[in-house]
Amino acid sequence: MGVFGGTFDPVHYGHLRSALELVERLQLQQLRLMPCATPPHRGQPACSAHHRAAMVELAVAGEPRLACDRRELQRTGASYTIDSLKALRAELGDTLSLGLVMGCDAVLGITSWHRWQELLDYAHVVVMARPGWQLPAHGPVAQWLRDHQLADAAGLHQRAAGGILVVKLRPLAISSTEIRELLAAGRSPRYLLPQVVLDYIQAHNLYH
Ligand code: ATP
Repeated sequence: MGVFGGTFDPVHYGHLRSALELVERLQLQQLRLMPCATPPHRGQPACSAHHRAAMVELAVAGEPRLACDRRELQRTGASYTIDSLKALRAELGDTLSLGLVMGCDAVLGITSWHRWQELLDYAHVVVMARPGWQLPAHGPVAQWLRDHQLADAAGLHQRAAGGILVVKLRPLAISSTEIRELLAAGRSPRYLLPQVVLDYIQAHNLYH
């Protein structure tokens, strides 16, 4: 099982294509995209958690291997990933392998995450390379990656949590920031995200 946290403001093909490639590459039963309700480490998202989750739901509809996990919308206060992993672990039991998916840019800031060193007690971490970003060669994050790095995807299936796997997927240089900027400038982000998401954005007058 995989869980892919993000702001998804809005969800785009960079997220979705990576998610599907991960499901196939890592032989996941399911990958859940988990919108962060109140991000602790960045400004308020441009639109509400309700809209962001609705867009993720529309984007993954029809692909049974992907789903939207709304658990962070059901808690109040800052959305800490560690709390979500604990809840997921309680639901899934101790033996099912769980992978927390994040992009390279997210890993660079991991030492500022609440109880970051405990993440691996509950899940593996799967790091996706992302165009424009590089993993550090020195410092605490580099050390953490080295200490827990798995040699290959088979390692994910051998235990329930505790390893780090770095994977290279199809590079798609798409970001939510760029999509929001295009919309704000009155330009079209069409073909960078699913049409059904763009229709939702237009119907609800978001990001202009
Ligand atoms: P923003 O531009 O608002 O920061 P974003 O496009 O980075 O948004 P997020 O919702 O913040 O999207 O990203 C969630 C996760 O998805 C992060 O771990 C990020 O690294 C990863 N991600 C986002 N876009 C891509 C992409 N094009 N390719 C690979 N990973 C991506």
